[in-house]
Amino acid sequence: MSSALRFQVVGEAFKKRPVEVAAPKERPSEFFAKYVFTRDKMQKYLPADIFTKMVDVMENGTTLDMHTADAVAKGMKQWAMELGATHITHWFQPLTEGTAEKHDGFVEHDGKGGMVEEFTGKLLVQQEPDASSFPSGGIRSTFEARGYSAWDPASPVFVLGDTLMIPTVFIAYTGEALDYKAPLKKALHAVDKAATDVAHYFYPDVKKVISNLGWEQEYFLVDEDLYAARPDLLMTGRTLMGHDSAKNQQMDDHYFGSIPERVAAFMKDLEIQALELGIPCKTRHNEVAPNQFELAPIFEETNLAVDHNMLLMSLMKKVARKHGFRVLLHEKPFAGINGSGKHNNWSLTTNTGILLHAPGKTQLDNLRFITFIVETLMAVWRHNGLLKASIVSATNAHRLGANEAPPAIISSFLGKQLTDVLEHLEQADDDQIPFASKQEFNLGVPQIPEILIDNTDRNRTSPFAFTGNRFEFRAVGAEANCASAMIALNAAVAEALIDFKARVDALIAEGMEPLKAVLKVVREDIKTCKPIHFDGNGYSEEWKQEAARRGLDVEASCPLVIDRYLDEDSVAMFAKTHVFTKSELEARNEIKWETYTKKIQIEARIFGDLCLNHIIPVATRYQSQLIDNVHKLNEIFPADVADGLTGDNISLIKQISEHASYITTHVKQLIDARRIANRLTDEREKAIAYHDTVAPLLDSIRYHVDKLELIVDDELWPLPKYREILFIR
Ligand code: ADP
Ligand code: MG
Repeated sequence: MSSALRFQVVGEAFKKRPVEVAAPKERPSEFFAKYVFTRDKMQKYLPADIFTKMVDVMENGTTLDMHTADAVAKGMKQWAMELGATHITHWFQPLTEGTAEKHDGFVEHDGKGGMVEEFTGKLLVQQEPDASSFPSGGIRSTFEARGYSAWDPASPVFVLGDTLMIPTVFIAYTGEALDYKAPLKKALHAVDKAATDVAHYFYPDVKKVISNLGWEQEYFLVDEDLYAARPDLLMTGRTLMGHDSAKNQQMDDHYFGSIPERVAAFMKDLEIQALELGIPCKTRHNEVAPNQFELAPIFEETNLAVDHNMLLMSLMKKVARKHGFRVLLHEKPFAGINGSGKHNNWSLTTNTGILLHAPGKTQLDNLRFITFIVETLMAVWRHNGLLKASIVSATNAHRLGANEAPPAIISSFLGKQLTDVLEHLEQADDDQIPFASKQEFNLGVPQIPEILIDNTDRNRTSPFAFTGNRFEFRAVGAEANCASAMIALNAAVAEALIDFKARVDALIAEGMEPLKAVLKVVREDIKTCKPIHFDGNGYSEEWKQEAARRGLDVEASCPLVIDRYLDEDSVAMFAKTHVFTKSELEARNEIKWETYTKKIQIEARIFGDLCLNHIIPVATRYQSQLIDNVHKLNEIFPADVADGLTGDNISLIKQISEHASYITTHVKQLIDARRIANRLTDEREKAIAYHDTVAPLLDSIRYHVDKLELIVDDELWPLPKYREILFIR
């Protein structure tokens, strides 16, 4: 590609007009969940007794019998066919990125040479996709590749295009999870049970505790023609080379700025389609970096929220193409400007109220609040390394530890008011706290104000920040399945609550008054989990040292962080909460290491190719032009004059030689490093080798490529530049 060609592509991108999006005739409240088999529709399409059974299944997790399944399938089929569906698929979340589906037509032989539309309870409940083509970490060898997908009635089915989509778990024949949903459901069950038990100290009538998730999805949009001209973006989702553009995000003029028209049309289209699929989209805005945007829905129950995020990510890709864009979910598509994350806002509520909300009317509420806050902090403190492991990936590694949220150390921001309350509780003397009766129970702290946390103090460097009525886990990557983080967090909190209850009950058994026992254990825990609390600047060098002194996990190498899953503490925690067995954890780690290796491997290949076949040839060509010019100057001028005239070009010629020779020799090293790493058979060792010997070369070589971009004639440069890709008008 030459500059003439680049300008043509850029020019055309600039001329593109927004794609018209017809305004829906109805209001959002009317078309919301149009394609979802909601409770309302169940009531309409299912016989009354079947509907009642389904509600029981959904609310209380009772098992579905085949008779009910058949009746449900019948009603579902009718509803789906009215919307034009001809196929059904089990929709699941294997340990690759994204979701998987296998479509079956609604048809069966009618026994008379014709066809009938058929959809049985059996097909609704269970399918057997060929599991051998999904990663299993060796849980299931290929010759007995049996994996089952089984319906998750807690997440409603929906119609997408011509297909009835059935959210399912994906498990091996032997019962091990091959996906994200199965362990997530187990973790949610564990936290429900543990938190309900603890909630009973305060409110005996609580029936269940719900874990909530509100994700904020960041993403980039690039014009599809420019995208197509960047083999690195196309193959890896990020630019492997490219010099900063003169202007990027330093003016802060993109954040919350007005949304470019073409993008606004895309957002509108996306939101309408997402709302129709029951995703409660609420917020949209420009993000910090040019071409970067965010979408956030209203929070939902975690299992459903995860499904909705997976669905939204695939919907975004589809809708973007209709608008001539490509959506980039990679955590760091462009060097030098912010990358994309996915804040996971997490909270617990009971069937009757909120658990993490700043205290309300009574001191009992205050103690409940402090208890759940402190036990969450206990979980985060005890498993800070594991929580980091739940969010690391080859792609998210570019954000972690770089000077943008989040740092590679998990800590928790609490804000001044909550900090004051915890400090008071920690320092006050137990015996002086008056316990008159349960009703007059006094925490001995001044009334905590209604609005507990000043939202003005939004510490952006904290990976796990308390923000009023929830914690915000900010380290999650834009591309990730939120389930990974939510499994670790909910299971860890469940464990903390189980331990908490055991200690409180022991005191009660010794005769201590229950709420006094609660307060005593909370106080111990405030002291214990103190090291996780950090309200300062998470990017500072001092914090890294301080965190290490506090015993927090400071490892930044992705393959080594993954080890945290196999720490004794983690294995015990996952066993206690029945989320993972040790062999499941081992298998999943194999997949994580393998995935890490493959990502870097692909990057290294495409990078080497770009260097040798795109960059070096144009650099050499430009250098030859300069050499030619020097010769010609020497021909027409006397030597003393020519010397003065050729100096600059000679210096450029030298610089090009130096950069080019660095690139060529180090690309050779890169190939050798890959070769050596590839010989390793142990997945962990291989991932470590890729991390230590291959990945750093990508960065060091890139530096020289980016320098060449500044030197070489723009006319010759083969790749669209950052300034051309990053500014949609
Ligand atoms: P900000 O960007 O300031 O963090 P946003 O409004 O973009 O805030 O996003 C906040 C997210 O947090 C939304 O998804 C919202 O639904 C979610 N959220 C709000 N309250 C809770 C809560 N109690 N539990 C879980 N998520 C919540
Ligand atoms: Mg946020």
